[in-house]
Amino acid sequence: MANLKKSNILIVDDVASQRNVLEHILSALDICIFQASSGKDALSKVLKNDFAVILMDIEMPGMKGYEVVSLIHSNQQFKHIPIVMVTSNDNNSEALHKSYEAGAVDFVTKPVNDTILTHKISQFIALDQHRRIAEDSTARLNILLNSVSEGILGIDLDGKITFANPKASELLAIDTENISSKLQDFLVLPKQKTTDPQHYRDANRELIDLLSSSFYNATRLGRASLKGSGDWQSLRGSKFHSDYSCDVTKGPNGDINGAVLTFKDTTQEKKTEEKLLHLANFDYLTNISNRAYFHDALKKSMARVKRSNTTLGVMFLDIDHFKFINDQYGHDIGDLLLQTISQKLSDILREDDLISRMGGDEFAIMLQDIPTKMNVVKVAQKILNAVSEPLELNSIKLEVSTSIGIAFYDSYSMSMDDLLKAADTAMYAAKSEGRNNFQFFAKEMQDKAEQNQRVQMLLSKAISNNELTLLYQPKISLLQKKMVGCEALIRWFPEEGGMISPDIFIPIAEQSGQIIELGNWILDQVCQQISHWQTLPYFKDMVTAINVSVRQLGTSEFREKLVAAIKTHAIKPEFVEIEVTETATFDDHNVFISELEKIHALGVNISIDDFGTGHSSLDYLRKMPVDIIKIDRSFIKDIGMDEQDEELIRTILAISKTMSIQVIAEGAETVEQLKFLDENQVDNIQGYYFSKPIQAQAISDALNSNDDIYKEQFERFEKHKATDMKSSPNESQ
Ligand code: C2E
Ligand code: CA
Ligand code: CA
Repeated sequence: MANLKKSNILIVDDVASQRNVLEHILSALDICIFQASSGKDALSKVLKNDFAVILMDIEMPGMKGYEVVSLIHSNQQFKHIPIVMVTSNDNNSEALHKSYEAGAVDFVTKPVNDTILTHKISQFIALDQHRRIAEDSTARLNILLNSVSEGILGIDLDGKITFANPKASELLAIDTENISSKLQDFLVLPKQKTTDPQHYRDANRELIDLLSSSFYNATRLGRASLKGSGDWQSLRGSKFHSDYSCDVTKGPNGDINGAVLTFKDTTQEKKTEEKLLHLANFDYLTNISNRAYFHDALKKSMARVKRSNTTLGVMFLDIDHFKFINDQYGHDIGDLLLQTISQKLSDILREDDLISRMGGDEFAIMLQDIPTKMNVVKVAQKILNAVSEPLELNSIKLEVSTSIGIAFYDSYSMSMDDLLKAADTAMYAAKSEGRNNFQFFAKEMQDKAEQNQRVQMLLSKAISNNELTLLYQPKISLLQKKMVGCEALIRWFPEEGGMISPDIFIPIAEQSGQIIELGNWILDQVCQQISHWQTLPYFKDMVTAINVSVRQLGTSEFREKLVAAIKTHAIKPEFVEIEVTETATFDDHNVFISELEKIHALGVNISIDDFGTGHSSLDYLRKMPVDIIKIDRSFIKDIGMDEQDEELIRTILAISKTMSIQVIAEGAETVEQLKFLDENQVDNIQGYYFSKPIQAQAISDALNSNDDIYKEQFERFEKHKATDMKSSPNESQ
């Protein structure tokens, strides 16, 4: 407004002196004065300039003043220019009348009164200034409306569009000059039902509600604006995503009379956002949802279940021996397998069930609205069947299985963590039940899991706290009637008091990985012990056995430690034996066998522990470098009671003879057992009959003297044999 130009005025008179008189009077005002000497001259000046007011002599030769007025006002563009007629006293009133008819607004008479003229003209100048200010802001508003990148719509109480800026008409494909549409025509409503928890708030509907109430709510709730986003559709049918804000407008009396809507095409932004959302919520490999999404959805469903009183279940699923498959066939096959399994799961489950990959080879399934537990059993069985169908991936034939844990959200005091932990615990139970099965969560599992966790925690400080010690159980040769070796057995006396059996903590340490540290400690202790014993007079190549867990043989670490310990303690490898348990060591089978071979090549003895309890016994013997097998205590216990077990012992002995493998019987407690083993030519005996596990010092004592420490036991044995022969003389024939 400050830089608004000076107003122009035009003085029209055929007499120069008259024009100059007027100009002189008006020069006091801050204006630009133009002169015209004829009607024609006036018209050409009007065409070129914008006049605030024209002073027009009524009597001129040629074109009369009122004729000029009429001509100027016949043009729409100049109609607004006020024209003041200048008359002489003797002028006839008819000419003045004609001037008014043509559009003149006022007159002054000659000789002109200075004050009156200045006063009149200043009023017209003020009007002109106002007009130009108004025109200027309208022009600016138009520039704004035309150039903004947002669409701007004016709507009335019914939603009828009363105004659209160019961007709005472009986006909606409407004709600005002739709008007959309502805002409602452009809003696309999403389908009613959506289970998608990430779905955006249905703002379009809110907008429609606002319109259908004629903004009643807006007035009532004092809510004057609404922001939202939704899908819109132009008149031509092209869809776009719109972010909008709607602000109500009020009329002069303060009543709401419509709204102004500003909106933007945010289709691209929405796509990018959706892509990011997808990345954040879905697993790139299998394209099913991920852990974060699962947790989110589960939390929501748990809240819903609380309200609706339906049943919700969670399944945890882990592919059995996945690591082995990955190592054996490579990650490509591993990836393919994960994709195949996700596909199978998706095929089996209902649309409402959610499947997620929780990481690695672990999947979780959320089952909603479960009618009965039996339905879940059916689903679990279906999954087990589908997964165990033989597969061919990149022409590699595979047979896989899965272990499933199931937990229900049946107590509303359960947190999401509790529920997930329950399903996980049940899955581990399924694993320990031999895999390829499903288990429902039970309270006892939880107790066991908690106990395991406690043991694991206590164990982590057992070594540094000096809570561990080793006992040694002698192995006796029936032929030589003396101790030929021993087995190191660990004992744990926690600081808290009591004793925890290795049967409890060794499996836990194997699962937690603590067995590695523990095993290294045991190895070093035993080798140190051997280095002392080998200096004693009656040592005579006694072999000391160390129990080694399969977990320790998954890498070369144990072997390297063994080599180092043999060197550090300067002992002969022949004095060392390792006992490994015959189990389905599927996961790292190849590494396991090759490690055993390398250890055997060092000169260390290898024995198979608990022989007979596993499932691939004979196969095992052929593949592995085995020196000794230890018949499991469960068979020895049944001697004299179970003929089948006796037969099995004989078979084991026969086979091992043909393979030149030594046999030792574990857990021989009675003289009857001893007799049977002796008759069947078992080489060595280990068991309570001769000795329980004892302190290293007791072994040292035995190696220091030539005392026959098992004299009493052998005498008892001989006596038994003798009385037995007497009581059944026919049998020995
Ligand atoms: P295992 O290797 O089969 O050890 C033999 C178990 O049978 C020992 O139990 C031993 O005390 C017991 N035993 C021996 N003779 C008799 C008998 O005549 N009657 C009865 N009732 N029991 C007998 P322990 O020491 O409780 O060890 C249990 C298991 O813990 C071991 O079974 C072994 O698997 C594991 N273990 C023990 N020490 C170690 C170790 O240093 N390292 C590893 N990795 N595992 C160990
Ligand atoms: Ca053993
Ligand atoms: Ca054993």
